[in-house]
Amino acid sequence: MNAFSRRGACPALSAPMQTGDGLLVRLNPMTGGLSPKSLVGLGESALRHGNGVMEVTARGSLQIRGLTPASARLLAMEVDALGIAVRTGVPVETGPLAGLDPEEVADPRPLAERIRAAIEEAGLAKRLGPKISVIVDGGGRLTMDAVTADIRLAAIRTDAGVRWLLAVAGDRENAALLVTVEEDAARDIAVAVLRMVAEKGREAHARDLTARQLRSLASWHSFAPPSVLPDISPTWGEIGSFAGGSPLAPRVIGESGDGSAIPPLVGEMSGRTEGGTVERLPVPARLPIGIFDLAAAGTALGIGLPFGSMPAQKLTGLTQHALTLGVTEIRLAPRRALLFIGPSPTACHSLPQAAATLGFVTDPSDPRTKIAACPGAPACASGRIATRDIAETIAAENRDLLDSTLTLHISGCAKGCAHPGRAALTLVGGDNGAGLVVDGTAKALPTGYRPGYDAARGIGRIAAAIREAGFRGETTAACMTRLGAAGVTELYRQE
Ligand code: SF4
Repeated sequence: MNAFSRRGACPALSAPMQTGDGLLVRLNPMTGGLSPKSLVGLGESALRHGNGVMEVTARGSLQIRGLTPASARLLAMEVDALGIAVRTGVPVETGPLAGLDPEEVADPRPLAERIRAAIEEAGLAKRLGPKISVIVDGGGRLTMDAVTADIRLAAIRTDAGVRWLLAVAGDRENAALLVTVEEDAARDIAVAVLRMVAEKGREAHARDLTARQLRSLASWHSFAPPSVLPDISPTWGEIGSFAGGSPLAPRVIGESGDGSAIPPLVGEMSGRTEGGTVERLPVPARLPIGIFDLAAAGTALGIGLPFGSMPAQKLTGLTQHALTLGVTEIRLAPRRALLFIGPSPTACHSLPQAAATLGFVTDPSDPRTKIAACPGAPACASGRIATRDIAETIAAENRDLLDSTLTLHISGCAKGCAHPGRAALTLVGGDNGAGLVVDGTAKALPTGYRPGYDAARGIGRIAAAIREAGFRGETTAACMTRLGAAGVTELYRQE
């Protein structure tokens, strides 16, 4: 086992990870954003040393793949020469508009920084596994609701001022709420949770803590439940059980849901997911695509990467164009997008046009945002079908099929990197071509096959039947349920 194939290692710049198409590195700038010149420089490095494709992951990390041990070292040197300080240690993530959005409840960056410092001081980074993560969410328009984490802190307004809801193990919808506290206590409890996880070993996560441990954490600091819980979903309403002094959340920590629907924008394309590992139902949240008025901070323009990737030339071309239009910073956003900060009002119209021409996603309703597709063949050596081509065809021809109730996973092989969880429809490459799995994962045995080159036509058959059989106002998911798994498979196989 060499340094580039360690299981459980983080594919950071200093520790690339072996994938089907060479080594992969994943990086996040310390400052949260990059200058346009830095992003152009990174793109040029990716072209020189990698496979020429740049990716932004569901958690908002930048990925460069197709590296060799030697080229990965050169890339690391060039990143250094560009002056890009990359994040190391336990990820403590904030939202992509942190500190800029006038609608956020609180700027989460100071608390995030204090937690980072406390983790460092406690020497926890080397005792925790590489997929442990902390989210500090200041609220606002682009929240981190859909991103899973071991610890999540969300700012809320209470009569007493800003407080932090601290929850563990999950996304906003399914994490177990522990306590509502002030900033100092939030930091202390977050670090205490991490200490407990570290004591369980490097494979452990917050979901492995016992209810007793969590109760002790919750009672550590006295707290007053907020008098109002703005924007708190019913499942977060577990705070009520604390007010009553009852044990922790009714949900068992570590329990996984049935994941019966697909979160299209979770999972990664690296052969392994990053950060939080739970892949669950999507939390309805605004996509970071479109124009965001930041009042005094100007404007942010969100542009998505189709299926999370783009040729480096196109990305650098767009970034150079953005530089001429007054963009001062580019932030990586969860859900596979980039936020261009600072364009002039005129640029907010011309930049999306340029981006759309290059094939970027500029409309949040773009059907490509509903499909999870790994690089597949030929980019990944394990890929058995051309996932991205199939995905593009399906998105172009069946926009109406991809309503909010149904998303689609297209996987080059059974590994299912782009979406480890269940999907309503999964196409998976294998010996027999493109197999169809209905309501399952890429690892399940397909119930029907078509040649890989013809897979999009199979999905087209399903879409045509739904158009024909669907009742007025019926969703795709509801119609598919009526058709049944066997019926859907039969449609997929139809000539
Ligand atoms: S799922 Fe896709 S990216 Fe992952 S190993 Fe298979 S083909 Fe490669």
